[in-house]
Amino acid sequence: MSRTGELMFDPGALSAVQRDGDACVVCHKRWPRPRVRAGCLPNGSGVFACDDCAPALPSPRPAEPEGGAGRPVSGPAPGEAVTHR
Ligand SMILES: [Zn+2]
Repeated sequence: MSRTGELMFDPGALSAVQRDGDACVVCHKRWPRPRVRAGCLPNGSGVFACDDCAPALPSPRPAEPEGGAGRPVSGPAPGEAVTHR
């Protein structure tokens, strides 16, 4: 999960031109040049999708609200299930 909430793409799964943003990350089309930012790589560079593929991409989720107040922290209860032999 990236800090920006963008999709993070695995650079190993993309071709060099896709990593450079010169080809659509979905269909590899290089012309017209993809111009919709689809996400980013772990190193921060953006990857792009063409107009046809952009709507099919999963939209990045909004950042989760801060604070897990409703989530109680429960650990293993100490001293339970200890039986004498
Ligand atoms: Zn495409």
